Amino acid sequence: MTEALIIGAGPAGLMAADVLSAAGHSVVVAEAKPSVARKFLMAGKSGLNLTKDEAFEAFLAHYQEAAPFLRPMLEAFGPKEVMTWAEGLGQEMFTGSSGRVFPKVMKTSPLMRAWLAKLDAQGVDIRTRWRWCGGHFDFDTPNGVQSLTPKVTVLACGGASWARLGSDGAWADWMEAAIAPFQPANMGFHVNWSPHMPRHFGAPVKNVRLTAGDTSVRAEFVISERGVEGGGIYAVSRQMREGHSLVLDLLPDMTEDHIRKRLLRPRGKMSLANFLRKSLKLSGEKQALLREFGHPFPDDMAPLIKALPVRHAGARPVDEAISTAGGFRLSGVTEGLMLQDTAGVFAAGEMLDWEAPTGGYLLTACLSTGRWAGQHAQAFLAQGQ
Ligand SMILES: Cc1cc2nc3c(=O)[nH]c(=O)nc-3n(C[C@H](O)[C@H](O)[C@H](O)COP(=O)(O)OP(=O)(O)OC[C@H]3O[C@@H](n4cnc5c(N)ncnc54)[C@H](O)[C@@H]3O)c2cc1C
Repeated sequence: MTEALIIGAGPAGLMAADVLSAAGHSVVVAEAKPSVARKFLMAGKSGLNLTKDEAFEAFLAHYQEAAPFLRPMLEAFGPKEVMTWAEGLGQEMFTGSSGRVFPKVMKTSPLMRAWLAKLDAQGVDIRTRWRWCGGHFDFDTPNGVQSLTPKVTVLACGGASWARLGSDGAWADWMEAAIAPFQPANMGFHVNWSPHMPRHFGAPVKNVRLTAGDTSVRAEFVISERGVEGGGIYAVSRQMREGHSLVLDLLPDMTEDHIRKRLLRPRGKMSLANFLRKSLKLSGEKQALLREFGHPFPDDMAPLIKALPVRHAGARPVDEAISTAGGFRLSGVTEGLMLQDTAGVFAAGEMLDWEAPTGGYLLTACLSTGRWAGQHAQAFLAQGQ
């Protein structure tokens, strides 16, 4: 008989499997896709940012309202422990100038290979193409519907974005526990661009200050066919999702007065574009945005350059988001991550209702909650409940 069942072979589920199998329990991991950890592997395509090397309280604050709930889990397994864990799997780590921590190889695959070998040595039975389809616990498998009746279960099916990689949020339809609706997090925004913008699609807009609500970051973002996306946009995306407008400071190193003085210099026969480029070093992309959102220009353009309002047409669809808010409400799980109304069933990772910015916060909390759920499932087994 299966002692422990893990549903979902992403970082959260595999961490729970690791803990339970290391403690000597028989573990089955059921994974819907033909291979494991597809989103985790995708995360490594653009540089696997595993965690953030910063003071603990500053790190924790990024989980906002979920911070008090997650505190004990992140204290037990936070940035330092994530780095040590990855090093233990043979990954040399490095910390970028912003404090973001990556494996030197940047990719997920070497770490995954080492982790899967460890899990295999610990006897973990990973069953791919096993899709949980409801109940406690039924699976669509290549051999028809199969049922398992484990002593403990850790649910780790992820959030509801990038469904093609496995996390489609379908489980929310059959679970009766309290579930907050899924919402996009760390997502781009749709912009109905005018015909002069396509030549800027794909261009990074560097060194701007983005402000929405009480959040203000100096970062860069990308103009795309769909709208605006990339790190700077993700950093203010929660505030934008909650209805705050986005304002850009196109020249964060210059004061409004300084800009005004330069704009008062004689322009001669120069076109406005040339003049802005020469007097303010305003790049083509920044000028395009100025024209897109600031036209017709007022006589004094300095305030507009310092606070350009971005007109967008709402968040991109949840499936395109880097992560999701929503999932099992934290009020519906115990401190040990067991569902309040279902003894022996735990939840971890993005399936829980917390959100955080990009920068390694997502994976750290997935690993940390996976470990915590695994440990509490182990304690549940030990009590023979
Ligand atoms: C493009 C991209 C880049 C990212 N980069 C980073 C980064 O650099 N740093 C960072 O911290 N975060 C990053 N993230 C976010 C991070 O990858 C996720 O937060 C993390 O993978 C979530 O882990 P999880 O284990 O909770 O869920 P997932 O990784 O989504 O895993 C859930 C697993 O459950 C399986 N599953 C779902 N439903 C079922 C079912 N019914 N039956 C059986 N199995 C099921 C899925 O197939 C999947 O394998 C990135 C995300 C994306 C999309």
